[in-house]
Amino acid sequence: MHITDIIRGGSPTFSFEFFPPKTPEAAESLYQTIRELEEYMPHFVSVTYGAGGSTRDLTHDLVERIQNKTKLDPIPHLTCVCHTEAEINAIIRRYAKACISNILALGGDPPRGCAYDKSKDAFQNAADLVRFIRRFNESGVHPDPRGFGIGVAGFPELAGGARFPAKLLRALQRSEDDPKMVARVGVHFALEQCHDLLDNHVAGIHFYTLNKSDATRTIFDSLGIPRRQSVEARPLTSDL
Ligand SMILES: Cc1cc2nc3c(=O)[nH]c(=O)nc-3n(C[C@H](O)[C@H](O)[C@H](O)COP(=O)(O)OP(=O)(O)OC[C@H]3O[C@@H](n4cnc5c(N)ncnc54)[C@H](O)[C@@H]3O)c2cc1C
Repeated sequence: MHITDIIRGGSPTFSFEFFPPKTPEAAESLYQTIRELEEYMPHFVSVTYGAGGSTRDLTHDLVERIQNKTKLDPIPHLTCVCHTEAEINAIIRRYAKACISNILALGGDPPRGCAYDKSKDAFQNAADLVRFIRRFNESGVHPDPRGFGIGVAGFPELAGGARFPAKLLRALQRSEDDPKMVARVGVHFALEQCHDLLDNHVAGIHFYTLNKSDATRTIFDSLGIPRRQSVEARPLTSDL
């Protein structure tokens, strides 16, 4: 479903973010997380995109696996950084063939630890990538006659870095020697934030799961939100 239809379909939406795992062990752990979160029937899940070649393939693979093996609706992040037009064209064709409904088009973070010349990128900003995907949509290649739904990023505190509330920092300092306490402080604070957002009629809440399900499930279960629909339990398999 297009992201605009998802948002228009009634708020608030709930969604989860994953990043591509780098090792077989991390992949197993992520697939377990995905199975555990699948039953919450989020409106969509998103998969981040790195700057390096190998992690990029992992994003494409993970997106297709989620699409083909689960009931979740994956939205891949796609960035301008270090890409030619032909590469972007190949990626969006692959996503169209896999019936991926949406793409989050981003400028992208520069690669770390190596020289990077932004002027060599085929697309300089997210807006250029959006224009390219829109042109692709007109080609009729995507199984949906409208093509991809396209999302873009917005930074709530412009882009100078998030400020941590003093209350949260103090609580973390008090518990810094006890990792379990730190986790509880985080969950409690996130829960308060979610309640505040819901009370103020936010359109949606996106959970950065960090590829783990525990904190997200604890928070979600404490919000008193009915599950959207029940999903048949599936056997946990390693070939998600
Ligand atoms: C929700 C979210 C998810 C993200 N996921 C990822 C991810 O998976 N991978 C990743 O690498 N990064 C990710 N990022 C980071 C993001 O790609 C970078 O921070 C990027 O610098 C900003 O993204 P953008 O799409 O707004 O970039 P851009 O559109 O390139 O904007 C960057 C800056 O350029 C300015 N600008 C834009 N267009 C023009 C123009 N025509 N002329 C002059 N100035 C212009 C903007 O105002 C802004 O200050 C994410 C960010 C968010 C908020």
